Amino acid sequence: MSLRADAGSFDAIEKSSSDELRALQLARLKETLARTYANVPHYRRKFDAAGIHPSDLRSLTDLSKFPLTTKEDLRQNYPFGMFAVPMDKIARVHASSGTTGQPTVVGYTQGDVQTWARLVARSIRAAGGRPGDKIHVAYGYGLFTGGLGLHYGAEHLGCTVIPVGGGFTERQVQLIADFKPDIIAVTPSYLLAIADEFDRRGMSARDTSLRIAICGAEPWTEGMRDEIERRMVVQAVNIYGLSEVIGPGVAQEYATSKDGLTIWEDHFLPEIIDPETGAVLPDGEEGELVFTSLTKEAMPIIRYRTRDLTRLLPGTGRAMRRIERIKGRSDDMLIIRGVNVFPSQIESVLATMPDFAPHYILEISRPSQLDELDVVVETRNEAGAEIQAALARQAEHLIKALIGVTSTVRAVSPGMVERSQGKARRVIDKRPKS
Ligand code: ADP
Repeated sequence: MSLRADAGSFDAIEKSSSDELRALQLARLKETLARTYANVPHYRRKFDAAGIHPSDLRSLTDLSKFPLTTKEDLRQNYPFGMFAVPMDKIARVHASSGTTGQPTVVGYTQGDVQTWARLVARSIRAAGGRPGDKIHVAYGYGLFTGGLGLHYGAEHLGCTVIPVGGGFTERQVQLIADFKPDIIAVTPSYLLAIADEFDRRGMSARDTSLRIAICGAEPWTEGMRDEIERRMVVQAVNIYGLSEVIGPGVAQEYATSKDGLTIWEDHFLPEIIDPETGAVLPDGEEGELVFTSLTKEAMPIIRYRTRDLTRLLPGTGRAMRRIERIKGRSDDMLIIRGVNVFPSQIESVLATMPDFAPHYILEISRPSQLDELDVVVETRNEAGAEIQAALARQAEHLIKALIGVTSTVRAVSPGMVERSQGKARRVIDKRPKS
């Protein structure tokens, strides 16, 4: 079976049978475990301590006997301790964005860079992109994997890359108008900021050359998708990835079905675990996504806890399974008076009210004993104080009814909530640090 495919067409493995895929995964998993044990002292110590050896793996389900890996493990081996090849074989390093603390460093061999480019090319193709398309990359370039990940993938597919990077929103608008790209790759929150800039300049965001928006790097909702598609007249599709696993291009939504993200299972083996106990959950149950790399050379990763919450779904028309849209990270979960709530749940409720724009901030404070949640949300149009207050009360009621949490909502004028230029910061935690 040839895995190397013509850049413009499907990879053969995308259409493989489940048996072929599982056989390939098992062979690659055995090889990865053996190589990792031999070359990364951290894994050898952990496997030895757990009394497990790579040769104990006979089937894919045996993987659950191996120890999980956490962000903390990566931090303890900062910067290069998790690498499985000598430094002179490392072609590139990247780091996570550090959304939740000290960034973790990852490395790539030349082979890894090529694999990654192939998988991002596959992702762009699944999103509806084709060789010859012009792609405006508005993800940040640099240590963050977004910009360069999309860049290499787009080149591999045979697209024309416009490597804009994040920020300078006025220039983003000008370049879209002048260069007439077919595709934009960008965080969904920043794409809405770009749409606002079109409006501000009296230009129509609906009439650009853009056909497809490849959006990811942060949680977003169907409400956001509707908003983006309506305002920019594009197909907005979801791309998922994380630097520890490779970067963007771990999973991608097909534009033809838009029904969750297909995991490129020939390179990344997913599991869902109970975040409390670490036990593996059956497909279909919600829990924390865990990945094991199957082909990575520089920094293979075994059972990495992503902290992203979702469920595994069967493939549609293909053997590779899907994940549902990520609900949030386990560390994004807010506990407000005993009720667990994710920012994306609040976003979904606000999206049901057409008078609100999808620009919001959640502020958590603890004025006395209990945590309190303030939701600051923009109205779509300028509104008087009375209307703002009425909308806010309506939203409080809906949040209580649908999520079960008490909040104070403040409706503010358009433009009052700060825009992101990359990953949006949705939560401001004002509680005293314990
Ligand atoms: P950091 O963990 O520092 O943000 P990365 O820059 O590697 O590191 O970002 C990866 C994370 O971004 C993922 O673990 C996930 O939480 C989030 N993410 C990426 N793509 C998506 C997506 N399509 N939907 C929701 N969250 C996403």
